[in-house]
Parts: sequence; C-alpha cells; structure tokens
Amino acid sequence: MSVARFWRETPRRYNLGGSKCTTCGTVYFPPRSVCPECTSHRQSIEKMVPFQLSGDGEVISYTIVHDAAEGFEMQVPYVVALVQTVEGPILTGQVVNVEPDGVRIGLKVRATFRKLREEGKAGVIHYGYKFAPAEESGGRRPAGRTGTVPATEAPARDRAPA
Ligand SMILES: [Zn+2]
Repeated sequence: MSVARFWRETPRRYNLGGSKCTTCGTVYFPPRSVCPECTSHRQSIEKMVPFQLSGDGEVISYTIVHDAAEGFEMQVPYVVALVQTVEGPILTGQVVNVEPDGVRIGLKVRATFRKLREEGKAGVIHYGYKFAPAEESGGRRPAGRTGTVPATEAPARDRAPA
C-alpha cells in the first residue's frame, strides 16, 4: 500500500489533531487547553479550538540511530528527525522510506501512520506517526509547487559558443 493511500484511509481525527488559539493563531500539538502565548489573558481557555495538522513539514534536525531500543531491533539504523510542520509545531518522529544517507536538513516530509512496534506475546500494537519524503507520496503534491529551474534557462551569454 502506498504512503498516500495509507494516509487517505486513516481517519484524520486519529491523526495529528492539535489545537489552535483563535486569539493569537498559535497552533499546538499535542493539543493544549490554554495558550501559553496568551497566559496573561485568562480568556484563552475559551479561545482554543481543535485544529488538524496537515502532516506536511520539513526536516530541521536529525539523528541516525544505530543502537536499537527494545522493540526496534529489526529497524536499525533508523533516522529520528525534528520536523517543522507547515502549521508551526515541531514534531519528533522516525523518517521512513528513505535510506539514512538520504535524509538531510530541509527535506520535505509528510506524516503517515505506521505500526511502531508490537509489545510482547500479548501482541499489543502501538501506532504512531512517522515521516516519509513528500516526493514519494505518489505524485499527489499540492498544486502550484514548481520544480527547480532547468539549467538550460541560464542567460545565453554564459554559454560557450557552439
Ligand atoms: Zn494565544
């Protein structure tokens, strides 16, 4: 199953549901019931509304983990990144669908829900968000996003004579 299809078929209310302060516009994830940015304003308690994060973001820092935590033995090395979401909150999560060497600062990623681990013989399964490169989401990128300018559009005077 593709990342994009997995994302579509997961009910959004179970995903990145945060909250937004309607007074100052700050978005929080996990959701908060009061706005720290507005702590001097007691009315912020009534100004918080549910807000759904898109899951789109950009890697701002990352670490390649070689020593597996219990339950992650099958997955090393893996990458844990700090992702700046387009809405503001910074999330921490594993980056998948890319070799550790392929992760870099500025990589555009999208959150997706994955099974994180199974716990013991009881088979308790933990789910959570992970991040995958946005470019590999099956060509469903938002409209209006353009690629890099081709080198052939460089000024003619910079080219060597034929
Ligand atoms: Zn606020």
